[in-house]
Amino acid sequence: MRLKNLTFKGGVHIDDKKEFTKDKAIERAMEPEIVYIPLHQHVGAPCKALVKAKDTVKVGQKIGDSEASLTAPVHSSVSGVVKGIEKLHTHDGYRVDCVVIESDGLNEVHESVKPKADLESLSKEDIIEIIREAGIVGMGGASFPMHSKLLTAEDAQIDTIILNGAECEPYLTSDHRMMLENPELVITGLELIMNYFDAKNGYIGIEDNKKDAIDVLSKKLEGRDNMSVVSLKTKFPQGDSYRLVDSVCNRAVPERGRCKDVHTIVSNVCTAAATAEAVLEGKPLYERVVTVTGKGVKEPKNLLVKIGTTIGDLLKQCGGFNGRPGKVIAGGPMTGFTQYTLDTPITKGIAGVLVLTEEESKAEKVLPCIKCGKCVEVCPVHLEPMFIAANALHNRFDEAEKLHALSCIECGSCSYICPSKRPLTEAIAHGKKEITSKNKKS
Ligand code: SF4
Ligand code: SF4
Repeated sequence: MRLKNLTFKGGVHIDDKKEFTKDKAIERAMEPEIVYIPLHQHVGAPCKALVKAKDTVKVGQKIGDSEASLTAPVHSSVSGVVKGIEKLHTHDGYRVDCVVIESDGLNEVHESVKPKADLESLSKEDIIEIIREAGIVGMGGASFPMHSKLLTAEDAQIDTIILNGAECEPYLTSDHRMMLENPELVITGLELIMNYFDAKNGYIGIEDNKKDAIDVLSKKLEGRDNMSVVSLKTKFPQGDSYRLVDSVCNRAVPERGRCKDVHTIVSNVCTAAATAEAVLEGKPLYERVVTVTGKGVKEPKNLLVKIGTTIGDLLKQCGGFNGRPGKVIAGGPMTGFTQYTLDTPITKGIAGVLVLTEEESKAEKVLPCIKCGKCVEVCPVHLEPMFIAANALHNRFDEAEKLHALSCIECGSCSYICPSKRPLTEAIAHGKKEITSKNKKS
């Protein structure tokens, strides 16, 4: 079954710029000579290193873990020798301990990477343990540990699972290619999550600019009454989990609530595929598909990349810069992070590397607000961005909080649409940080 044209209120229509890579099959990235694997690449507590300088490691070997309940272990993506532990910046600006490993190029796989048992014999506890040990986290950017997502929803009477294949960020095509090239893995992931909760309904939500993926998955699901592909209008931020739940199920997640509060679990399609690989093959999350794209790169590609490979290594493999680069962004143009170095390692939550040219990156002149109301019209959370931003910029954080600043999902739609080019999202994000830190102290 296929449901069509579903959407949410608000949002913006953006040129999707998918043409750079949408038809390019996933290629395995070149073996990196050295990887920098952050011990903190997830929501929750950082891991402690389980290895030290001069240790030899293999692909899939656990190299970091924590005893905290909210965390996710990390694994080596290469076989080779540990050079040491170094503090480096991750793509989001945090300074994090990284395990530095020199690859021997042999890709020897660790003994622990093997199916744990027959699927039928696995209990729910076994499945949670396998997903945890494999270090599976949300790969759409949120990086929330998957086992915690499942465990914390245990008592929420989950009846619906939605796989997020919207991929609404312009330029990115890693989810698209995963759905086209590994549809069975995506469906198995959906089935596993549905079985875990005994959920009645499973949906795969895909924006209608990916008709080929909609067709492939719809065909694969023929005859499966409890699973459907949902074709969604192409509109940003359709891939935000609350907007997806609204579009697909017509359920409103309460303010500052979670999808589980409306009996729904949302998971990115690549996360579902990684979950399937972990449960069926015992494969930890040590590699992922990354779209390297934009006018500023010579040969845009979709690459299967080992975690810890630097952005610089990926760009080299894509022919390098096309002229003078203006900006290198980890993620998409709406919610990604601008990088100040090419030494940033790829982590589990980075779906793309975007290079904009100098011309494309020119800062636009900020003009006074003309009170056109466009930012209010497009805000998917139904906020009043211009008032929240103005209060935040004048350090009136209590006022900003009263206007529900903390509900802002930092999607960037208001800044995108503003004819005066006001930095609304940045101002609101700054306000949110101040409000959160003030609330922690009180
Ligand atoms: S206020 Fe926040 S949620 Fe609303 S459009 Fe702006 S960035 Fe998005
Ligand atoms: S879109 Fe820009 S100019 Fe229009 S009301 Fe909002 S802040 Fe003001």
